[in-house]
Amino acid sequence: MLWADRIASEIQDTRKPRNGKTFLIRDEKTISGRVHVGSMRGVAIHGLVAEVLAENGVASEFRFEIGDLDPFDSIPNYLDTKKFTEHLGKPLFAVPSPESGFKNYAEYFGEEFIGVHKKAGFIPNYYRATDFYRSGKMDTLVKVALERANDIRRILREVSGSEKDVSWLPVSVICEKCGKMMTTRAYGYDGETVGYACDKNPDECVPCGHTGRIAPWRGAAKLFWKVDWAAKWVAQGVDIEGGGKDHSTRGGSRDAANHISREVFGYEPPFDIPYEFFLVGGKKMSSSKGRGSSAKDMSDLFPPQTYRLALIGKDIREQINIDPSGESVPRLYDWHDELALGVREGKADDYSRLYALCELPKNRAALSALWQMRFREVAFIAQMPHLSLEDEAARAKGSALTADERIALEERARYAKFWLTAYAPEEFKYELQEEMPNVNLSNIQKKALGVLAEYLQAEKRTGEELHLRLHELKTEVPIQPKDLFQAMYRIFLVRDSGPKAGWFLAGLPRNFVIKRLKEASQQ
Ligand SMILES: [Zn+2]
Repeated sequence: MLWADRIASEIQDTRKPRNGKTFLIRDEKTISGRVHVGSMRGVAIHGLVAEVLAENGVASEFRFEIGDLDPFDSIPNYLDTKKFTEHLGKPLFAVPSPESGFKNYAEYFGEEFIGVHKKAGFIPNYYRATDFYRSGKMDTLVKVALERANDIRRILREVSGSEKDVSWLPVSVICEKCGKMMTTRAYGYDGETVGYACDKNPDECVPCGHTGRIAPWRGAAKLFWKVDWAAKWVAQGVDIEGGGKDHSTRGGSRDAANHISREVFGYEPPFDIPYEFFLVGGKKMSSSKGRGSSAKDMSDLFPPQTYRLALIGKDIREQINIDPSGESVPRLYDWHDELALGVREGKADDYSRLYALCELPKNRAALSALWQMRFREVAFIAQMPHLSLEDEAARAKGSALTADERIALEERARYAKFWLTAYAPEEFKYELQEEMPNVNLSNIQKKALGVLAEYLQAEKRTGEELHLRLHELKTEVPIQPKDLFQAMYRIFLVRDSGPKAGWFLAGLPRNFVIKRLKEASQQ
C-alpha cells in the first residue's frame, strides 16, 4: 500500500474532524528567501493526503501559512548585502521586495513558491501569518502563553534541554522605534503589557537601544516558534499537520510543541506525518546556495506529473535525492515511463496507483498512459540538428505517433533542451562534428571504418543492419568492440562513448557518413 493511502486510512481509523465535518490539514513555510525544494515535500504530502481523503469521501481543507512574521535573519547570497543589511532583524513583511511590483520580501518569494504549488497541482488555501495575528485570533493564546511563561520555560528545559532566564517571556516584540524583532527582549508581563528592550545584538543585526512597554496583541508581538506552532493548532483547530525530520526527532520542535499544546493550551496535537529530507545532490543544502536546489529550479526540470513523482514517489520514511546535474533527472523520467508501461499493460498494483497519484485527481478516472520516447534519447536527438525528433520517435515506437504522443514528445524535448543547457553532465552532451576532427586512430580502427564505408556505399542501410554489420566486423577485421565503437564516436562526436552506433549512423545523412568514414580510414 502506498504511503498516502496508508496515512489516509490511519487518519480515518483514528481521528474525527474537530469541527465535526471537515479535517483541517495545515502546513507552513517561513519565507526567508527562495524556498528550498525540501519544503515542497511537505506541500505535496499534505496536499496528497487531502486528495486521497477526498477520494475516500472524507472532507478536508488544506490550509497553508505564508510565514511573513518571522525575522529576516540572514541575507541570501543572491541578494545585494549592502542593500539588505539595514533590514536584518525586521519581520519579513517589513523587508522590501528585491524587485518592484511586490508588497514586500515575503510576498516576492512567496509568490514564486505558490507558483510551484500550482504547477504541481497542489492548491491550498493561503493566509499570511501577519494577517492572522492582526485579526486578533491569536490574542487569547498569546495571553495564556504569557501567563504560563514559567510552564513553557519548564517544558522547553525538560523536552529540548534549553535553559531560559527567569524573566524570559515566549514572545518576540517588534521594536516601535527601529522596527526590528530579532533585537528585542521582552519581560515583565503585567496582564496588559510587556516591557521590552531593543538591546540584543545577534550577528550583524544592530539594536537601537529603545526600551518601553507595549500591548502584545494583534501582531505587535509574535510567539516564539514552538509556542507559536502549538497556538496555531489551537486557534485554527488543526487536525492534521506533518513536519520534516529535522523537527521530528525526540526533543525536537515538534516534541516541544506537542507538550506545550497539551500542557499549556489543553489541546491534543494534530495527527503527525513525520517525513524524511529531500536532498539535492546528496546534500541538505540551504537554498541560499547551490543552483537547482530551490522548489522553482527543480520544478523547471519536469512536467507536472514527473515533478509530482519526484515529490510523492518515495515513502515518506525514505530520503529523496535528486541531483539536477547528474543522472537522476533522466532516471526520474525513466521511472515515470516505467509506471506508464505498467498502466498500459493493465497492471493494477502500487505502481499503477502511484502513476494515478502523479495525475491531478480529475484525470485519475480515465488514465492516459502514453508511450513516450526515453528522456535520454530525446536529449540526444535534440542535439542532432539533422535528425527529426518525430521520425526517430516513430522509429523507436515502431509506428507513427498519435497526436497526444506528439504533444508529449514536444514537451519532453523542451524539458530535455533546458536540462542540457542548464544542468546536464558532460556525458549527455553531444556535438556532431561538421568537419573531420583531429583524432588519433590505430591502423586496425582505420581498416574497420573503411570496411564500414564500403558497406554503406553499396546501398542505404537501416540501423538494425548497421548494428549487425558492426558486430560482424569484430571477427572479420578483427577488432575489439571497444576500439571499434571508440573510433566511431571519435570521428563523429570527439568522444569515446555515445548512443547506439548502428541507429546513430543510420540517422545521419548517408553521404556525410560515407565521406567521414573514408576520410578517417585514409588518414
Ligand atoms: Zn529598536
